[in-house]
Amino acid sequence: MAESPYPFISDAYGKNHFELDRPFSSILKHFNYNHEQTRLTSLGEFAGTDLYEIADYIDKLGRPKLIMWSTDGERVDRVWLDPAEKVVLEKLIGEYGVNRGPYISGDWFHYFSSIYLIGDPGISCILTVTNQTAYAIYKYGDPVVKKFLPSLIGGDETTPRKELRYGATWFTEIQGGSDLGANLVEAVNQGGRWILNGDTKYFSSNAGLANLAIVTARPRGAKEGAKGIALFLVPELNSSGKRNFTVRRLKEKSGTVSVPTGEVEFEGAEAYLLGEAEKGIYYTLENLMVSRLSNAVGALGIARKAYLEAYYYAKKRKAFGKRIIEHPLVQRDLMEMEIYIEGTLALTFRAIDEFQKTFMDTPPYTDRYHYARLLTHISKNLTADMAAHVTKLAMELHGGIGFLSEFPVERWHREALITPIWEGPSNIQALDMLEVIAKKGAHHTLLQDLESGRKQLGLKQETDLYEISLTDIKNEFELLKGLDEENAQFQAKDILERLGHSLAVVTLVQISNSLKSERFLSIAKLYRERFVERKPLRRLDRLKTAQIIEIDNLKEELVVGK
Ligand SMILES: Cc1cc2nc3c(=O)[nH]c(=O)nc-3n(C[C@H](O)[C@H](O)[C@H](O)COP(=O)(O)OP(=O)(O)OC[C@H]3O[C@@H](n4cnc5c(N)ncnc54)[C@H](O)[C@@H]3O)c2cc1C
Repeated sequence: MAESPYPFISDAYGKNHFELDRPFSSILKHFNYNHEQTRLTSLGEFAGTDLYEIADYIDKLGRPKLIMWSTDGERVDRVWLDPAEKVVLEKLIGEYGVNRGPYISGDWFHYFSSIYLIGDPGISCILTVTNQTAYAIYKYGDPVVKKFLPSLIGGDETTPRKELRYGATWFTEIQGGSDLGANLVEAVNQGGRWILNGDTKYFSSNAGLANLAIVTARPRGAKEGAKGIALFLVPELNSSGKRNFTVRRLKEKSGTVSVPTGEVEFEGAEAYLLGEAEKGIYYTLENLMVSRLSNAVGALGIARKAYLEAYYYAKKRKAFGKRIIEHPLVQRDLMEMEIYIEGTLALTFRAIDEFQKTFMDTPPYTDRYHYARLLTHISKNLTADMAAHVTKLAMELHGGIGFLSEFPVERWHREALITPIWEGPSNIQALDMLEVIAKKGAHHTLLQDLESGRKQLGLKQETDLYEISLTDIKNEFELLKGLDEENAQFQAKDILERLGHSLAVVTLVQISNSLKSERFLSIAKLYRERFVERKPLRRLDRLKTAQIIEIDNLKEELVVGK
């Protein structure tokens, strides 16, 4: 068989992306997540080999194509995926059980860890919207729709799936994505059966692939605005076995190519109501917690892949008589990338940990759920900024070839740029933060959590850093308290960002304490200096620099500063 040329163009290819990522394993350990290591190790191998290559191939050569008509002249509206992508998806859902955990054992860590390791926003989007569909059915489906669940999550371990179904989450319409209250797709109850009409769900990921979609629509006569939105499950085929909706076209995108995103129209589509019609907007927002956290780990996954490409390239590329990793400025860039990734990874798993505890909450919700929401807005926002910055630096560290589409590294920056936009742009995360603070008091739960966290700390250095960061966080809330609504909105995104940085520091200190890790304490200090105090990065001695940027620990000798 002909050998693939991929190892010649990618330096991160051919490695186990779980095993070499020691900071990630440590973070999981801090959150007491030590199960599924074998499966994550196996997924790490796949994520650094076939999956890695295929995801890049799809971006460059294997775009999904919409097949609209059959030879009989009938509307088909199915997407033709590259067969390699199909195999990857079936493996991820079936063999790796990426979407299975929450519904079999109540475990979300495996799913979010997997999305991080996969590190491809297109493939992750296909899995995420399928998981969100499962989540809505699991929480709010009646027995009739619950029968769809096993096929969405790839069956269970002992019963391999006979057929696999894909889900979708279609909320955005042409007149507004952030403003869901502007939704116009209408639902009518005809003799006990719900029928949807309206064009169009304007950004519909998994269009042409999804067998089932959760769709927001306004029941005829319902209130105006977001409170009049209900949530429905819409199967691809109606009760007569005919197509239940049409796909008008697929969008041309600058990234996320592996997920088809299209425009969907409903004309007399049969639908199942999920839960109570009046609570649809709440169910939709609950569902967005999954995709926002998924977006956060997805952004981290992109950044980690970009880091790996840059790190291995820096170890082999020579300039001015030595490997570029030996130049102080290159070490500085790698160090900045690494601490930014680790701080936001720690922050995001803190949010996941809270979501894990509250994912079955229903309206009117506990304080803990609102706290999980606050952490979700913070980490969704900060990871998106982080991914854009880290991927840009990774390109730069490749010099001229970083800008060439012949090599994988340029893709990561393109992919990173979706993360601040979908699942609610950064402005919307900031507004949602204001709401969850002003109306739900989520900051009080955060502060209680941080107050109780300080009791565990021992070392003076840890306590000092923790206290100072706690004061930073309190100051942000004090600042907000003094602002009128317009000014609070104007400053909300900056406050959201600063809260994220300080919470990252606090979480890193807690990790340093629970794992007795000097390395995490150094990361916490550097993170604060660089991203909270905005000081220049400090140069550490050779050993400490190596301990931070050599995350793989694959060699005996230290490569830095030789
Ligand atoms: C590749 C891709 C796939 C997608 N897949 C899906 C999908 O499967 N399902 C789905 O439902 N949607 C999907 N979307 C849509 C996506 O979620 C929306 O594009 C996004 O939520 C923003 O909505 P919008 O495009 O209507 O922008 P708008 O809501 O028009 O926002 C435009 C700008 O105005 C800002 N803005 C809006 N309101 C305010 C305000 N009150 N204050 C301050 N700033 C404000 C926003 O932050 C943004 O920067 C997808 C989008 C893309 C690009």
